[in-house]
Amino acid sequence: MKRNTARNVSLGLLVLTMAFMACNKGETSAATEQQDSEVALTPVIAAEETTATAAVAAAAKVKSPVPGYGISYPYGVKNPRYAAGYHTGDDYASPTGTKVVAVLDGTIAWSNNNGGAYGRWIGLRASNGRDYVYCHLSVRSVSAGTKVVAGQKLGEVGATGNVTGPHLHFEDRPKGGGYGQVRKPSW
Ligand SMILES: [Zn+2]
Repeated sequence: MKRNTARNVSLGLLVLTMAFMACNKGETSAATEQQDSEVALTPVIAAEETTATAAVAAAAKVKSPVPGYGISYPYGVKNPRYAAGYHTGDDYASPTGTKVVAVLDGTIAWSNNNGGAYGRWIGLRASNGRDYVYCHLSVRSVSAGTKVVAGQKLGEVGATGNVTGPHLHFEDRPKGGGYGQVRKPSW
């Protein structure tokens, strides 16, 4: 009888302990899940906001005339190799065939293979009254007179004219401006 009581008490304690542990475990996993979902939710919301902001920014402004590529050799560097004595545009080094796009809405002022040192080139007369010049192209996808919108493909990067490798040489001139009538490209 004594042993049975002891066993019953032990069993009772065991059951209680297990129940307590199970309960604790339940709370712990509930807490963990809650924490996890908070952690998971935060970046998701942040990512959605970032994407929305980026989409608005992309619609408002084209970041680069060569999407995905930044300036590899900047405007204004003094170099006697150039007739103007300095680099008259921004260079975007990128593989031949990479698309170049209109940085603003506008009309194509010229598109031909007669750029000389600039090879196959395109002039975009933009909505801000400036001429943006795309040089050394391999492919021209638009012709003079074509109306284009910001972000629209104009052609493809190449190595035509006087170059050491494929890149876009990109100039910002006043309307009708010639060689050397340039400013640091902005739009
Ligand atoms: Zn250049």
